Amino acid sequence: MTQTVNLPAFDWPTLQPGWVWLCGAGPGDPGLLTLHALNALRQADVVIYDALVQEAILDWAPQAEHIYAGKRGGKPSAVQRDISLRLVDLARAGKRVLRLKGGDPFVFGRGGEEAQTLVQHGIPVRIIPGISAGIGGLAYAGIPVTHRDVNQSVTFVTGHDQSGNTPSALDWASIAKGSQVIVIYMGMKHVAQIAAHMRAAGRPASEPCAVVTNATTPDQQVLETTLGTIVDDIAAGNFEPPAIICIGRSVLMRQVLDWQGMAQGEGPRNLDPLGRGLPAESA
Ligand code: SAH
Repeated sequence: MTQTVNLPAFDWPTLQPGWVWLCGAGPGDPGLLTLHALNALRQADVVIYDALVQEAILDWAPQAEHIYAGKRGGKPSAVQRDISLRLVDLARAGKRVLRLKGGDPFVFGRGGEEAQTLVQHGIPVRIIPGISAGIGGLAYAGIPVTHRDVNQSVTFVTGHDQSGNTPSALDWASIAKGSQVIVIYMGMKHVAQIAAHMRAAGRPASEPCAVVTNATTPDQQVLETTLGTIVDDIAAGNFEPPAIICIGRSVLMRQVLDWQGMAQGEGPRNLDPLGRGLPAESA
């Protein structure tokens, strides 16, 4: 069935033949797409999408050819090169190309590499940002990435590097010491190591942590735990990637901001989880 999704009146840009628009699809929920993304979906001849892009979003480009570019094992760098060159070929063939990536294309998504390759080959590009899982995914779990009483900065970290190991270039001790709130992408495989780094640098075992899997999708699961128990709790609850891990006291805010739970009729567990005094607006 062809679905039409209308855009509000605006001077929307035209996706010209031979162009590649590199676009974020958001963390999952199709409603978290930007209007520029929707405008692109309606015009594309080809949509090249990644593993984490929801099917429903592709349904909004029924006229386009859909090409899956997710990575299934193999050598990541070789596959990445193939994807970038495929984009070049499609653009040179005069297609209107939409490259759709999960979350934001420039956040741990190799979007910078793809865009660079395109420019190096003389292909005109447009970048359409998206809502990154580390912000929007946590918001769906009721966790604000910043809160005045908790943090004045937030650190986004990838849990593995190009070789699949815990990034050795990262100074985990400095991150642990300098960041009140740490948001980890791709962290599930090495969560034990990451937690050990945090503990070794002095973060307490009682420090609140959350794991949000399949954030913003109907399969979303949230684990509230601590640095001391995160590894065992992930194993016990069968939590699987894709997941965002958040370390820091902002996780406590979920006790009052689990808006999805509240929409299901659950009451807030604690109206003042940070102990700032009630009511909040009088502070
Ligand atoms: N560009 C993406 C991140 C790509 S890296 C963005 O900005 O969100 C892939 C990692 O993102 C996953 O391993 C996971 O850590 C995270 N991620 C992406 N979508 C997610 C989702 N719906 N729920 C939880 N984590 C997600």
